[in-house]
Amino acid sequence: MRVDGSCACGAIKVEAEADPEKTNICHCTDCQTATGTAFRVSVPVAGETLKVTGTPKTYLKTTAESGNPRLQAFCGTCGSPIYSTSPGDGVQPLYMLRVGILRQRDQFVPRRQIWWRSARPWVTRIASVPRVEKDK
Ligand SMILES: [Zn+2]
Ligand SMILES: [Zn+2]
Repeated sequence: MRVDGSCACGAIKVEAEADPEKTNICHCTDCQTATGTAFRVSVPVAGETLKVTGTPKTYLKTTAESGNPRLQAFCGTCGSPIYSTSPGDGVQPLYMLRVGILRQRDQFVPRRQIWWRSARPWVTRIASVPRVEKDK
């Protein structure tokens, strides 16, 4: 399906073709650090369908386990993560787009969780944590 979205400040906008069935959660410690939270939710998109407006800031992150570098893109103004991909010139075949920036995020329910071994032990118990509808 067609998706579109933007970072928190609106400087970076994305459009792409994404399959909700491919939505995944990554519990690796790199994703915990890079998101500042417990896990990352992403969906793969073909580079040929991805249109990015604005210029994300990027850095190369060598993943602890595989040793492979990944290009991480985020908004240089507000810091929202945008995507990761393989390093290299031009359009790459595949991008992992961050689901939280998509307007259609409700339709992207995770179907797979990777790096479960480093998942925060409380993620399975979150449903029992006391809830409030808003912030108080
Ligand atoms: Zn931004
Ligand atoms: Zn990860």
